[in-house]
Amino acid sequence: MNAPAAVDPGALSAVVVPVLYLVSAVLFIFGIKGLTRVRTARRGNLLAAGAMLLAVVTTLLDLGLVDYRWILAGLVIGGAVGAVAAVKVEMTAMPEMVALFNGAGGGASMLVALAVLWLEVLELDPLLVAGTVAGALGPDSALSTMLSILIGAVTLSGSVVAYLKLQGKISGQPILLPGRHAVNALLLVGALGLGVWAAFFAQGHALIGGLAAAVALASLVLGIMLVIPIGGADMPVVISLLNSYSGLAAAATGFVLNNNLLIISGALVGASGLILTQIMCVAMNRTLANVLFGGFGVQAEAPGGAGSDYGPVRSYGAEDAALVLESAETVVFVPGYGLAVAQAQHVVRELADLLAKRGCKVTYGIHPVAGRMPGHMNVLLAEADVPYEQLLEMDKVNPEFKQTDVVIVVGANDVVNPAAEKVPGSPIYGMPVLQVWEAGTVMMIKRSLSPGFAGIKNELFEYDNTMMLFGDAKEMLRALLAEMKHAAAA
Ligand code: NAP
Repeated sequence: MNAPAAVDPGALSAVVVPVLYLVSAVLFIFGIKGLTRVRTARRGNLLAAGAMLLAVVTTLLDLGLVDYRWILAGLVIGGAVGAVAAVKVEMTAMPEMVALFNGAGGGASMLVALAVLWLEVLELDPLLVAGTVAGALGPDSALSTMLSILIGAVTLSGSVVAYLKLQGKISGQPILLPGRHAVNALLLVGALGLGVWAAFFAQGHALIGGLAAAVALASLVLGIMLVIPIGGADMPVVISLLNSYSGLAAAATGFVLNNNLLIISGALVGASGLILTQIMCVAMNRTLANVLFGGFGVQAEAPGGAGSDYGPVRSYGAEDAALVLESAETVVFVPGYGLAVAQAQHVVRELADLLAKRGCKVTYGIHPVAGRMPGHMNVLLAEADVPYEQLLEMDKVNPEFKQTDVVIVVGANDVVNPAAEKVPGSPIYGMPVLQVWEAGTVMMIKRSLSPGFAGIKNELFEYDNTMMLFGDAKEMLRALLAEMKHAAAA
């Protein structure tokens, strides 16, 4: 009897590794699909995390001779940092955390490309004393290496500036340096030129190493210069764009390492980041160029006025509001950034439950850019177990307002500002908004007449059917809840 033929481990891994990579790629795609709905978001996240684990394990097994001690140390330290951050970081600080993650992704891509250049080309290839990087790696990989350094470095420094602005460690105001467009163009062209020189023409270790370092340095400065002029409140759009850059940097690194999965996952991140950026720009009625170069927030005295010049507004207390609510049959809650600041989602839910118990129909009107990051309101309300079916997107809820008795606006401002429809020339003119003023009564819960993110007046405060309920969102809602309970018990 013949002995079974021995399986060549090299041939096995040539088949198994691509299949496992393909499985990871498919899981990544389903993971992202899952993230498009609140209901399936957790599963999507788990799928993507599982895909990443599979990708890491497959890569390690494929590489074979690696020093696992370093990898284990990285896993333990990185895992611990991630776990602590996941537990400790507040929902309102999520954009900062994403900025740091993007920066880490970009930085990793830059370092991997520099390491490949160093280890595979400069250290191991003695021929390079006379040859070029393109000769040693092939033209595609040589170019990818330089692009990876460039995009990775821009992402790293840009994300750090975005993080510092959001944290308030550097001014959130747009910092408009004179001649910045020319300087940026020079830095970009310079970095690209040096990269092409290093990849295709330079010879000798010292020159190639020096040029690669110069590409990294110019790109780091470019990242800072690109983000410094953008106002702090525009950072979520910028972070989404930097997220896309980190994907592009990873895809370029995939070409450097010849790793198909890195190319696929990088492209997925790059494309989804870009789509998200576009969605946010459309919802704010701004072009990407306006966000990147416009210095929004500087033109506060645009038509529509600044936040202070108000005629008489009607201020009420919780007791008056409770009286109105007692006779309401339909109520729509409109949450905004102030709800997130006050962490009022649980008390909103309690009040909604009480109203529903009294036979009132309760829904929530969700504007796509309410809050400070995409999906901000959905996440907060989901945290308070608000049934997903009650969340109505703008197109669905706008036609409902005419038949609505009471709209309770909780810490929202720009997304309910009629100037978007009625004041041509206003910075938000043309931005789709929630037409809450069509309802019987609008209750505005906020602490003062201060403007929102766009820094402009909101005439809704002066409308006849508006009741201003001044106070912190959580405290005012608690007072309202107490009044309603008191009335029910009496
Ligand atoms: P907003 O226009 O920024 O208004 C928030 C309001 O909340 C403020 O007027 C503030 O008024 C009030 N507030 C703050 N803390 C409060 C508290 N503790 N209790 C009660 N009220 C409080 O918010 P929005 O209507 O949600 O609109 C979002 C804005 O952010 C839009 O202009 C959007 O374009 C922009 N943006 C959003 C995203 C995103 O992805 N979602 C990204 C970038 C920019 P008082 O100070 O008087 O209380």
